[in-house]
Amino acid sequence: RDGSAFWCEVLIAPVRDERGRVTHFLGVQRDVSDRRRAAEEVERINRELTSSNAELEQFAYVASHDLQQPLRTVTSFLQLLQRHLGNKLDDDGREFIGFAVDGAKRMQELIVDLLEYSRITRSGHAFQAVSTAQLVAETKQDLHQAIIEAGATIDTPELPDVFGDPGQLRRVFENLIGNAIKYRASDRSPEIRVTVQELNHFWQFCIADNGIGIPREDLDRVFLIFQRLHSREDYPGNGIGLAICRKIIERHGGRIWADSEPGQGSRFYFTLPDVERRAS
Ligand code: ADP
Repeated sequence: RDGSAFWCEVLIAPVRDERGRVTHFLGVQRDVSDRRRAAEEVERINRELTSSNAELEQFAYVASHDLQQPLRTVTSFLQLLQRHLGNKLDDDGREFIGFAVDGAKRMQELIVDLLEYSRITRSGHAFQAVSTAQLVAETKQDLHQAIIEAGATIDTPELPDVFGDPGQLRRVFENLIGNAIKYRASDRSPEIRVTVQELNHFWQFCIADNGIGIPREDLDRVFLIFQRLHSREDYPGNGIGLAICRKIIERHGGRIWADSEPGQGSRFYFTLPDVERRAS
């Protein structure tokens, strides 16, 4: 009425007389400016999120990549000091240098992990049909020593093909089955079951163990980078494995989550698109 433009949805239907001739049209116009504005806002926020994610990834990559060289210098000179002064230092001196060497080595490990994490999206390979049966078989081979030492059993059903990056998906199985062995209870051997069910063009995998379990309030936190529930003295690790799994699964358009109770074992679930869905 005031001459300003607005977005509207128009529906027009012909109205016919008894002989089928169109006599007039019926039109409905609806002002959809609010809906349109909301959709534009969602689009804008999405664009911002994508760009800030890319910036964060770039930051993590550059920071970890560029930190490596000076840290290597620190580590190698500390080791030289250790070798040259070893006999001349008193016990305290040797211990202090030992702490510094350990700290520098640990930092190097964390940087390597951070680099791997930041590279998942940028340096993943193209997707292809992947046999998860083969990935699990390879994982069992890789973890052979740990499986024997822990007396673990791994029960797997017939497993399907999915669409994805074979190297990255293997990493997911390795992390989850490796954790199921590592976080075992002290009074029983690890019993691990891999199961799978089909849900609406997705495969939902579950890796269940009978280990120490995870408190309910920590179930989301374990997927964050460098978050651990235990000290490194009790269980070795840097707290990056599940964060890497999450990033890989999300790159594949799936979801990952856990369900557990302390002392009752844990179940890690993740979904992956089936071959038909992604190949078409
Ligand atoms: P890391 O094993 O190096 O600590 P992860 O990211 O793989 O790193 O795991 C994060 C934390 O989640 C672990 O420190 C552990 O506390 C917990 N966790 C992971 N898997 C299991 C499991 N199967 N059973 C119990 N706790 C687990």
